[in-house]
Amino acid sequence: MSARILVVDDIEANVRLLQAKLEAEYYEVLTAPDGPTALALAASERPDIILLDVMMPGMDGFAVCRRLKDEAETRHIPVVLLTALDGRADRVAGLEAGADDFLTKPIDDVMLFARVRSLVRLKSVIDELRERDASGRRKGVIAGVASRLRGTGGRILVVDDQARQADRVCSELTIHHRPVVEREPGTAIIAARGPVDLIIVNAAAKTFDGLRFAAQIRSEEATRGLPILAIVDFDDRARLVRALEIGVNDVLARPIDPQELAARVTTQILRKRYADYLRENLDQSLELAVTDQLTGLHNRRYMETQLEALVKRAVLGGSHPVAVMVIDIDHFKKINDSFGHAVGDEVLREFAVRLASNVRAIDLPVRFGGEEFLVVMPETQLADAHRIAERIRMHVAGSPFRVMNGEELLTVTISIGVSTSAADDDQMKLIKRADEAMYEAKAHGRNQVVAKAA
Ligand code: GH3
Ligand code: MG
Ligand code: MG
Repeated sequence: MSARILVVDDIEANVRLLQAKLEAEYYEVLTAPDGPTALALAASERPDIILLDVMMPGMDGFAVCRRLKDEAETRHIPVVLLTALDGRADRVAGLEAGADDFLTKPIDDVMLFARVRSLVRLKSVIDELRERDASGRRKGVIAGVASRLRGTGGRILVVDDQARQADRVCSELTIHHRPVVEREPGTAIIAARGPVDLIIVNAAAKTFDGLRFAAQIRSEEATRGLPILAIVDFDDRARLVRALEIGVNDVLARPIDPQELAARVTTQILRKRYADYLRENLDQSLELAVTDQLTGLHNRRYMETQLEALVKRAVLGGSHPVAVMVIDIDHFKKINDSFGHAVGDEVLREFAVRLASNVRAIDLPVRFGGEEFLVVMPETQLADAHRIAERIRMHVAGSPFRVMNGEELLTVTISIGVSTSAADDDQMKLIKRADEAMYEAKAHGRNQVVAKAA
């Protein structure tokens, strides 16, 4: 992920060095020799990240940072303060000025890119949120989510076998978050499947391999999306690089600096909250859409918008009724219970394929919900609907369903009820009649079709 980075330092050699390193990794670099120039560039060029020297004549880095964070146009841009090696006091002042993270001079390449990558990810979700907020405002929706979500109150899982270090991390984090410690990876994996916002793992643990643990978190479906912060020994370069390769989101060098800990934890938790928010909202808009996610058939909402008009037209126009077929898979619960939900899903998908390939192009096959399906058939008489239903029934019961990569063959049957529209019908009544017919088919022994005239 590339980005545009503003480097601010009064010493030209420092600027050139950082510029060269960043450009070698294909980042676009803007530079400023002093605070006022930096503020002007930040406002006009909208960089994705600002690397800001603390010690500058005139306006120092803290003052620049405060001004950036005071302005609505630049507030969301992550700021990394470049501090001296023994800059504890600087880091405290930096956090107070609103800085997002720190880099210690002389700047280490691996740390530089770890920081930049982590903040570019944060910035990209912030941008997307701001984009949505802006379009929400245009549509008159109450927005401002980006400023409401906070990086505090995080549920943090600390995975560390070194009690003193874990205690120190926890007591720092307790001020703004809810940390818990797990001392061994087996229990930590289980804890990670619960409600967790961030994992901090000691990559230099003695009794387990912290990187193996991180890799496992990345490979499991349930935990894949969790941010990971790895505690590393700065001198163990190979492990430091390996940690980033495995996909930990950021690193913290030992001994742990409390300000860096606080800053990095906030960044990761904010990013996760923003990303979760974006995903939940995306899910909502997918749900509003017309297609069922599992089977690719149309969903109930879409069907209802279509059927209403078809029924009205049939009722008004007289001669050609619209037929509705309600289909329910027999003893579907048994399939879930015996083979698991995932196999149940496979059966639903396979059924959808068989259903869709056995109706006409003008018919509308729909996943009505769960293991219930429905087909809307315009201009269809009851006898024809019955015949089509019988064909579908045979096509399902006639050959077993291949599941689990062909390891298992399952015989699946369905019960179907059909009905057609009549004068003074509406779609509710029509569906209800077809549904009652389907229940009669169940009551008569399943794997059959019952047609019910109005
Ligand atoms: P019957 O022959 O009377 O219809 O019995 P049944 O077991 O098919 O019916 P029941 O309504 O008791 O159970 C339906 C089951 O379908 C229960 C529910 O957990 C499962 N189900 C609903 N939606 C899905 C889904 O999307 N995927 C899977 N795998 N199962 C689902
Ligand atoms: Mg069923
Ligand atoms: Mg059912």
